[in-house]
Amino acid sequence: MSKTKNEHNTGGQFLLDSIFDTSIFTREDFSSEHREIYKMVMDFDRERVLSQKEEIEKFDPDLSLSLMKELGELGLLGIDIPEEYGGIDLDKITSAIVAESLVQSPSFAVTWSVQTGIGSLPIVWFGTDEQKQKYLPKIATGELICAYGLTEPSSGSDAMQADTTATLSDDGKHYLINGEKVFITNGGWAGVFIVFARVDGSKFSAFIVENDTEGFTIGREENKLGMKGSSTAQLLFQDAKVPVENLLYEVGKGATIAFNCLNIGRFKLGCSCLGGSKQVISAASVYAQDRKAFGTTISKFDAIRKKIGEMSVRTFATDTMIYRTIGLLQNEIDLIDKDAPNYYINTGEAMGKYAIETSMVKVFGSDCSHWVIDQGLQIFGGYGFLEEYPLAPAYRDDRVNQIWEGTNEINRQIITGFIMKKALNEELPFRDAIRQIDSFLNTKPDVDDTLLAKECDTVESAKKIGLYLFNEALSEFAQDLKNEHQIVEMLSDIFIDIYCAESTIIRVKKIMSSDKPVASTVDIAKVFTTEMVDRILAKTHTILNAVFAGSVSTEAKDTVDKFEERMRLSNNVVQLKRNIAEYVFDQKVYPY
Ligand SMILES: Cc1cc2nc3c(=O)[nH]c(=O)nc-3n(C[C@H](O)[C@H](O)[C@H](O)COP(=O)(O)OP(=O)(O)OC[C@H]3O[C@@H](n4cnc5c(N)ncnc54)[C@H](O)[C@@H]3O)c2cc1C
Repeated sequence: MSKTKNEHNTGGQFLLDSIFDTSIFTREDFSSEHREIYKMVMDFDRERVLSQKEEIEKFDPDLSLSLMKELGELGLLGIDIPEEYGGIDLDKITSAIVAESLVQSPSFAVTWSVQTGIGSLPIVWFGTDEQKQKYLPKIATGELICAYGLTEPSSGSDAMQADTTATLSDDGKHYLINGEKVFITNGGWAGVFIVFARVDGSKFSAFIVENDTEGFTIGREENKLGMKGSSTAQLLFQDAKVPVENLLYEVGKGATIAFNCLNIGRFKLGCSCLGGSKQVISAASVYAQDRKAFGTTISKFDAIRKKIGEMSVRTFATDTMIYRTIGLLQNEIDLIDKDAPNYYINTGEAMGKYAIETSMVKVFGSDCSHWVIDQGLQIFGGYGFLEEYPLAPAYRDDRVNQIWEGTNEINRQIITGFIMKKALNEELPFRDAIRQIDSFLNTKPDVDDTLLAKECDTVESAKKIGLYLFNEALSEFAQDLKNEHQIVEMLSDIFIDIYCAESTIIRVKKIMSSDKPVASTVDIAKVFTTEMVDRILAKTHTILNAVFAGSVSTEAKDTVDKFEERMRLSNNVVQLKRNIAEYVFDQKVYPY
C-alpha cells in the first residue's frame, strides 16, 4: 500500500503550516490494489445490491444478512480485522474506499458500516486475545452481526450522561447491567453488542454483551423516515448478567473506546456521503441531458449548469479532504510499532489525534450530500418527488447523516473546541502564528505565474484570518467561547473551508502535473477558493460584531480591510461553473 508523505503530525496543524510545505494523500495515489478493490465493491454493489434494492428497503433481514455473508466471503467484513483473527487487515485507505463504494442501498451500507466500524473496532482495538478469538472470526464472515449501544433515551449528544449502570455481582463473576439503549443500528439482528454503562454508577465502561444474555431483551424496530431496510432497535437491560471477562479494556475506559471508535465512524460516514453525492451528480447529469423543456434539453440551461458545476465543486472538495484525512490517519498507524504489546490499543487511541479532521469530514461530507441531493432532486423537477425515481429515497435516506455519529452541531463544537484546547495547552503554537499576522499583512505577497499561485496565497491569508478571528473571540470570551455556539459554528465552518480549499488546490496541482491532467479541476479549485473568500468575509463581519458588541474597533476594521484586499480573487465563477458542468455532461458520470 502506498503511504502518504504528509508532514503534519497533529490534528489542526494545517492551520499553521504553509500550503507550500504541504503534501497530501489523494485518490490519485491509490495503489493498483486499492483500484481493484474499488472496482470489486462497485461491481458487487451494482450486481448484488442494486438488483435487490427494492427488497432490501422493504426490511428483509434474511436478504440483508445473506448479502453481508457474501461481503464476508469477499473479505470485506474483515478489512480492519487482523489476519490471526480471520480478517485481512488492509490499510485504512481501503476501508475508506469500500465505505465510499457501497452506495446503491444506504440501508445495506450502514449495516456494513456498523459491522466493520463501531460494532467491531472496540474489540479489535481494545479487546483481549480471548475476546478477539471468540468474536472476530465470526464477525469477519458475517456469521455474527455486531452493534454499538451508546445512546439512551435521555442522553444522545451528551452521551457521557448515560444512566445505564453495571454492578459487580456478589460472587464477582458477573456485571449486572441495568438501563436502556435506543436507536441501535443492527440492534434487531446482532448477536453481539458493545454496550456502555457506568460501573458503580460512575466509571464509564464498555462491555461485550451477547444477544442471549439473561436479563437482556431487544426491543421493537423503529419506524424511520429513511434507511428503512436497516435495523434500528432499542436494547433493554434488567439485571442483565454479563460475565466479568466481557469487560472491554478496563473499568473507566469507556470514553476512550467510545470516542476513538466514533472518530473512525464519523470518517466512514463522510465516505458514504461522498459516494452518494457522486451517484446523484451522475444521475442528475444523465437526466438533464435527456429531459427537454422549451424545446431543448435542460442541460443547456445556465441554471442547471450552475447546479451541476457547484455540486461537482463541493463533491470534489469532500473527496479530497477525505483521502487527505485518511492519509494522515494511516501515517499515524504506520508509525506505531507493530510488535509492541499494546499495538492495537495504540492504534485505537491514535484515531483521536485527528479528531478535528474526522469531524470536519463528517460535517462537510454530510452537509455536502444533503445539499447535492436537494439540488439533484430539483434538477429532476416533479419526477424528483416520485418514489420510483432515485432522488426521493436518497433524500429520505441521507437526512440522518447530519444527525448520527454526533450531530453536526456537536461535531462543529468538537472542531473549534479541540482547536481551542490545543491553543490553550500550547500543543499547537498558535501564539507565534498570531504574532506573525501583522508582518504577513504588511509584506507584499510573492505571487508568481505558476498554476493557482494567487489561490495559494488566498489560502495562506484565509489561515491567518481564521487564526485572527479565533484569537479575537478567545480574548473576548476566554473559556466561555465554547458556549458561544453561533461563533463556534462560524469558526468551525471557516476552518473546514480552509482545509477543503487547501486540499483541493494541492490535489489539482498534483493532477495537472500528472500524465493525465484534467483542465476542469483547475476551474474547481478556482471556484471553491473564490467562493470561500465570500463565505469567510461574511462570517468575519458577523463574528467581529459579536466580539465587539456591535462597535468594531478601527484597528480591527483596518486589519479586515487588509485581509480582504489580499484574499479577494477575481475569477469569473459564472463561466467556470459552466465549464465544469460541460465536462461532467460530456463524461455522463461524475468524472473526478
Ligand atoms: C437511524 C439512527 C441510527 C442510530 N444508530 C445508533 C447506534 O448504532 N448506536 C448509538 O449509540 N446511537 C445511534 N443513534 C443515535 C444518534 O447518534 C443520536 O440520535 C444523536 O447522537 C443525537 O442524539 P439525540 O437524538 O438524543 O439528540 P439530542 O442530543 O437530544 O439533540 C437534539 C438537538 O439538540 C442539539 N444539541 C444537543 N446538544 C447540543 C449542544 N451542546 N449544543 C448545540 N446543540 C445541541 C442537537 O444537535 C440536535 O439538533 C442512531 C440514531 C438514528 C436516528
